[in-house]
Amino acid sequence: MTCDYCGASIDNGMALCETCRAALMVRLEWVPVHFANLSRLYTPGRPNGSFGGGGGGYGGLYDEDGNEIRFVREGGGLAQVQNALSLAHADLTTWARALGDDRPQLIPAIDSLGGLGESEFVTAFCWLLTTNAMTLMTLPWCGELLGGLTRMERRLGRLTDQWVPGWYAGRCRRCDTACYVEPGVTWVTCPGCGITTPASDHLDIVLNEARDWTARPKGTAKNPGLAEAIVALTGESSVERVGNLIRQWSKRGQLIACVYVDRDGDPNQKRYRLGDVLDLLGRKERAA
Ligand SMILES: [Zn+2]
Ligand SMILES: [Zn+2]
Repeated sequence: MTCDYCGASIDNGMALCETCRAALMVRLEWVPVHFANLSRLYTPGRPNGSFGGGGGGYGGLYDEDGNEIRFVREGGGLAQVQNALSLAHADLTTWARALGDDRPQLIPAIDSLGGLGESEFVTAFCWLLTTNAMTLMTLPWCGELLGGLTRMERRLGRLTDQWVPGWYAGRCRRCDTACYVEPGVTWVTCPGCGITTPASDHLDIVLNEARDWTARPKGTAKNPGLAEAIVALTGESSVERVGNLIRQWSKRGQLIACVYVDRDGDPNQKRYRLGDVLDLLGRKERAA
C-alpha cells in the first residue's frame, strides 16, 4: 500500500503515511488561524457574512459597523483576500458535505455547524476534522483533502504575511480600518487612510494580542526576536540588555522555553512567550 498523498509505501492500513498525517494536523491548525486573521480585515455587516457587493462584484469593503471603507494599497489587493476566503470557505463546506456522505455518524456534528458565520464555521469544522482524525485516515479522498488543505494554507498564509503583518493594533482613529503592527517595527500604518502613528499609541491592544507570540530572545532587523519587539513597543532602549535578561531568566528556570514547530511539523529552535518576558520585565522594574 502507498500513501495517498506522497506515495510512500505504508503498511498501517491508513490512507496517509505518518509524515503526511502529521502535516494534515498542522494544516488543520493553521487554516483557521489565517482565516480568522484575514477575516478581521473587514467583517461585512450583512446577514450570512458573504463578501462583495450585490451583483457578484467586489463592490465595497465594510468595517465591523457596516461602513464602507477605502483601501489605499495597490489596487485589487483586497479582492484577492476576499477570493481566497470565499474559496476556502466553499472548499471546506464541500468537504463537510462529502464527509457527511461517507461518515454518516458525523452528520449531527456537521449539521450543528450550520448556523455559524464563515470564520466560526472554518474554526469549528477544522476542529471537528482534528478530533476525528482517525476516521479521516480511512477516507478514500484523504490525500485529496491534504492536497487541498495544503494549497489553502499556503495561499491564506501568504496573504496573511502580506495583509496581516503582525499583531492587531486596533482600529484607525481616523477611518476605523483594522491596523496591524509588525514585530520590531515602531510605527503603525493604517491600510485604510495611510496615516502613520507610533506603535506605543496602540500598546494596550498590541501587548494583549501579542502575549502568546513566541520568538527567540534576539533576532535580526528582518526577522525580529523578543528583544527587538520589546524595544520597538515599550520604553526599553537596549536590545542587548533585554536579550541577555531573557537568556539569564531561561538559565535560572524563571522562563520556560517552548520548542517551536514549523509549518511542516518539524521541531525548530527554543522560543519564549512575549507575555512571560513582559511579566518578568515588569516585576524587575517594580523591584528596582
Ligand atoms: Zn505520505
Ligand atoms: Zn485610517
